[in-house]
Amino acid sequence: MSQARAWSVALVGMQATMVEVEAAIGSGLPSTVMVGLPDLALSEAKARCRAAMASAHQSWPSNPVTINLSPAALPKAGSHYDLSIAAAVAAANQRCEPSSLENLAMFGELGLDGRVRNVLGLLPALLGAARHGFTRAVVPAGQLHEASLVEGLTVYGVADLSDLFAVLEGGPGVSAEPIREREPESLLRLDLADVVGQGEAKWALEVAAAGRHHLYLHGPPGVGKTLLAERLPSILPELSAEEALEVSAIYSLLGLNLEAGLIRRPPFADPHHTASIASLVGGGARVAAPGAVSRAHHGVLFLDEAPEFPPKALEALRVPLESGRVVLARANATAVYPAQFQLVLAANPCPCGNASTVGAECHCPPMVVRRYRSRVSGPILDRVDVHQLLRPVRVNLLSEAAPGESSAVVAERVALARQRQLRRLAPLGLRTNAQVPGSVLRKRLPAPTDPDLLTTVVQRGQLSVRGVDKVVRLAWTIADLAGVDRPGRSQLQTALALRRGEPHEAGAA
Ligand SMILES: [Zn+2]
Repeated sequence: MSQARAWSVALVGMQATMVEVEAAIGSGLPSTVMVGLPDLALSEAKARCRAAMASAHQSWPSNPVTINLSPAALPKAGSHYDLSIAAAVAAANQRCEPSSLENLAMFGELGLDGRVRNVLGLLPALLGAARHGFTRAVVPAGQLHEASLVEGLTVYGVADLSDLFAVLEGGPGVSAEPIREREPESLLRLDLADVVGQGEAKWALEVAAAGRHHLYLHGPPGVGKTLLAERLPSILPELSAEEALEVSAIYSLLGLNLEAGLIRRPPFADPHHTASIASLVGGGARVAAPGAVSRAHHGVLFLDEAPEFPPKALEALRVPLESGRVVLARANATAVYPAQFQLVLAANPCPCGNASTVGAECHCPPMVVRRYRSRVSGPILDRVDVHQLLRPVRVNLLSEAAPGESSAVVAERVALARQRQLRRLAPLGLRTNAQVPGSVLRKRLPAPTDPDLLTTVVQRGQLSVRGVDKVVRLAWTIADLAGVDRPGRSQLQTALALRRGEPHEAGAA
């Protein structure tokens, strides 16, 4: 019996485990058996590898071949094991040196003609291999740019199976294709300056961005709720190196092209209200794939027409909102995906959208309007700090208004406010005001200079005790934007108005 082994990676959620691919050639009639919990795509690897080997003028053993993937208990999905299977069989068949497979992680799907196809999740798989101490990897030539994002790893690109054998004999692999020309990102990026009027709402957006507060935009159709929500990422700070890797790893899993490099801007996900719960929070029958909440990781999750989402879908957001991650249990494995998003909800005043609009007719019965407004449940609303009501922009303003501030200008103020928060909160292990727990707010941070204001509001029954914490959190963010050391009366008043969705003097604080 002749044996050899090669290496690849199994991904369960974002968790990478090294998989040892062993091939053993015995004596007897030709047959190929694969063991070690392969899924359907992987079971078909036998046929793909055999045909591809023939195309590369490599013979498949004429004796029985056993292929074992271990750890055995771990379910293995996908077609990226093809290269490691082909290499292990070839080494066991004395067609290449078994030692050339040591410390080498392999990824790639084989076509029947021997071509190597791109695979999903290459980035998280390579990060996992590097964490496990591997220093060399073979990747599809089409994903060399993505592979180069991982530090400390020597990568060899292969376009077909012959390239793989050349690499195993000490060759350098194929070099990367030049990156295709594309529009500079600044031209494609949405800008706040495109939104006419709505100064008050723009400022509420700025406050939400600065403190990473969840935001609820109310108003009739066509006032610009979506325009504003889509522009929130344009005023958020760039992702840190660590965040950029996490976000890019999720997009690699979803099959997004990463040839332009890491994703450095906060992502934006806007699932439709008819989307399934699986596409919202993640799931799926065979492979537990990341959902919109994970596509919005370190970015923005926008639910337009939030009351139209089924109650169950909104309910499913509770856990990621609380824990910052999604846990998807499957029969033999549990996939965990990160999901730390900033939530932006938008809603019309009633199902037809015309209630509270002057000159428009609404025939929605009061019962229906009440039910519509209460569809976003308490536990979700409880996490939203900023409520903003948008009114239609006067027609003359549309033609006359000077362009508003650009996103770049607003982003600078947001960045400064984030720095002030970080200086104050980093010693407490926190980064943004929205994260600060009530106890820390009351005991570890200085009290606002005018605490009586809130006491009066609570005594009048206009604010719950829980609501006080939210107002104080918001007041801190407003103070950070204004460059004030701690919130005073004016910041508290503005925060109170933002909390209740009442008019406020934009930027006055
Ligand atoms: Zn209506």
